[in-house]
Amino acid sequence: MPEAPLLKVDNLVKEFPLGGGLLTRPRARVRAVAGVSFALSRGETFGLVGESGCGKTTLGRLILRLIEPTGGHIEFDGQPIQNLSHSEMRLLRRRMQIIFQDPYASLDPRMKVDAIVTEPLRAIQNISKSEGKKVATELIAKVGLRASDLDKYPHEFSGGQRQRISIARALCVRPELIVADEPVSALDVSIQAQVINLLADLKKEFQLSYIFISHDLSVVEHISDRIAVMYLGTIVELAPAESFSIAPRHPYTAALLKAVPMPDPHRPTEPFPMEGDVPSPIDPPPGCTFHPRCPYAFERCRTERPSLMAAEKQHLVACWLNRGQGL
Ligand code: SF4
Repeated sequence: MPEAPLLKVDNLVKEFPLGGGLLTRPRARVRAVAGVSFALSRGETFGLVGESGCGKTTLGRLILRLIEPTGGHIEFDGQPIQNLSHSEMRLLRRRMQIIFQDPYASLDPRMKVDAIVTEPLRAIQNISKSEGKKVATELIAKVGLRASDLDKYPHEFSGGQRQRISIARALCVRPELIVADEPVSALDVSIQAQVINLLADLKKEFQLSYIFISHDLSVVEHISDRIAVMYLGTIVELAPAESFSIAPRHPYTAALLKAVPMPDPHRPTEPFPMEGDVPSPIDPPPGCTFHPRCPYAFERCRTERPSLMAAEKQHLVACWLNRGQGL
């Protein structure tokens, strides 16, 4: 019998009201996440990729209930979590942690590193000073920093080192799931690879599952087992990572892949091969929301919205073309 998923997300929706106040109705609603479903296996790295504003960061925060969903269902280890009380959720967060994008803003500049690293643990249980020191010393070594660094403040570190501190903090409570929200976007390219390799090593050692969020498909491809491509709040393609570069099925994924930087300096990166901007989520286009930018759009695309359908085993795509040979 297949193992039950660690996380299951079913038809998740998040709307944000626009305008309005205490006594007045909002002017409009932005559908940041518009009905997302997927399951995450234990030990899996699930990449979420898409342009800025596609809803991937909102989805990551919904999964941890840092923000409340408007609709849908989330299960963690078989337990529905959207109705858990504040204190129940606080205990569950021991098993699910987040690493934020900006290592400069996410660390309290007034705290020393040993207090930062053990903060999540101290939030849920009393630990002595010596216990805290022991935990922090062990974790800081795991992320490639020195025990003497525990006595320093965040401003004394580079961006890459700060992100290592954020990772140590996330590991402090021995979580099973880490949502890594653009964890390398603010770092130099040379440092990005180091941090990604560190996350891959820690995944094995701590038996972690990741949801890895990025706007950069090449970064996500490098670390993920499966990848979901998001566009205007929905998943438009979901497949094993290796399928993407071989045979993307959605025109938007094909465009993202063409824009990935080439390691060969003689092969220049192509400009993003789509016309126009992402439509407003306040008033998304009818039919397939990608149709105003899609070079393959035909009549049906303008009126009927395609749902995520199997193009082949484990490869789902939301496109009326859904062609067997890929794009
Ligand atoms: Fe393009 Fe139509 Fe497919 Fe949408 S459904 S991606 S508009 S071909």
